[in-house]
Amino acid sequence: MLHIKNATVHTPDRVIERGSVLVEERRIVSVGPSADAAAAAGAREIDAAGLVLAPGFVELQLNGAFGHDFTDDPATIWQVGERITRYGVTSFLPTIITSPLEQVAAGRKVVTDGRPAGYRGAVPLGLHVEGPFLNPKRKGAHNANYLRLPSLDAVADWSPATGVRLVTLAPELPGALDVIRALTARGVAVSIGHSDATFDQAVAGFDAGARYGTHLFNAQSSLGHRDPGVPGALLSDDRITVGFIADGVHTHRAIIKIVYKVLGPSRMSLVTDAMAALGMAPGAHKLGDYDVIVDATSARLPDGVLAGSILALDQALRNVIEITGCGLSDALAMMTSTPARLLGLDGALGRIAPGCAADLVLLSPDLRVRQTIVGGEVVFTA
Ligand code: ZN
Repeated sequence: MLHIKNATVHTPDRVIERGSVLVEERRIVSVGPSADAAAAAGAREIDAAGLVLAPGFVELQLNGAFGHDFTDDPATIWQVGERITRYGVTSFLPTIITSPLEQVAAGRKVVTDGRPAGYRGAVPLGLHVEGPFLNPKRKGAHNANYLRLPSLDAVADWSPATGVRLVTLAPELPGALDVIRALTARGVAVSIGHSDATFDQAVAGFDAGARYGTHLFNAQSSLGHRDPGVPGALLSDDRITVGFIADGVHTHRAIIKIVYKVLGPSRMSLVTDAMAALGMAPGAHKLGDYDVIVDATSARLPDGVLAGSILALDQALRNVIEITGCGLSDALAMMTSTPARLLGLDGALGRIAPGCAADLVLLSPDLRVRQTIVGGEVVFTA
């Protein structure tokens, strides 16, 4: 049993000053003012006076970190998972980019084999498979040699139970709508990305079941006032949640502000799209097959194309508040309750509420991660 008391609790729907959270058997069992909390006999106590208690961060797009690339070596999912808790991440979708389908199978096996003995880290909820069903015109840093047309056979055994949670594809490709229908019927979230779709083609993807957009504006058709393209479709359709890399490199700061005004916290989801260089010094790193050059702010192929980011999710939290002026609860929602809902896990994680996983982050007043808790166990202390 764990009792955290005297924290400013952001659930994130509401704020409880001097709040108390009680955890039993990996789940939250009660939430309320500390004054009302019954003394829990035998519980470990954390006095969090002066700190913010938030749901643990849910990362929907992470390619790797600390020198490891999941596409290159899926076995490193667990090593990275143990270390990303320093950024407040308590669950994540390891992302496998365009590669031979055997790499997806290898990644699924790593996830479904389950945690190694003694594992203390963020929980991989299943893969985000980004590619290979992408439009060559919008491939970004993906290897065109492995791009292929969508096929029902290729995804026949993809489901959350077999290690796939989210698939990014281009809806304008032949066969894409059938694949979207098949995946969504099995509970896999489908996202539109690396796509040259027209507005109508994107909406056809939504009608088939797609509910997410991968890194808005990057690697997709442009927003034109007579030809709104993928961004216009993602922004204007209330069914859609949009993934956004708030590093100030992938898009201009003004775009972050505009997008927040349009979408608000329930439709905007903050991701990092971070790659192997996250947590490492600048220099040469890998993304899939490619060598990537990393400087202080960005990761790029030799020709300058962006190749993921080096953004940490807690930095995205601070960035979005500073750039948009939004409140802390709204910023937290974009990396907790909103991504959890997209994955169909509302009520299971992403909130501080009875019944939810006891995945929690304690933040200092300037929003630095002090402590990260996964399933009621403290896994990181600054
Ligand atoms: Zn991408």
